[in-house]
Amino acid sequence: MCDVCKVEGSDWQFRNGKDRPLSRSKLYGVYEGRVAQLSLCLIHDIELFMTGEKKFLVKHPKLAMTLLEQKEKFAS
Ligand SMILES: [Zn+2]
Repeated sequence: MCDVCKVEGSDWQFRNGKDRPLSRSKLYGVYEGRVAQLSLCLIHDIELFMTGEKKFLVKHPKLAMTLLEQKEKFAS
């Protein structure tokens, strides 16, 4: 499941279609010296690409909080 849709409670299958694969995306500015790995649906993958990492996190404060709270889950 898409990590952004999950924390925001979106119906990701409705928005993206059932069989679309998730893409693995990396955020470089979240953790110092480590990379945050996210699974993103097509919509959020494109959004991240278009807006950039910083604006993406501002737009999705719940995701930003989750990344900080569950560092060991997302950091690699
Ligand atoms: Zn999503």
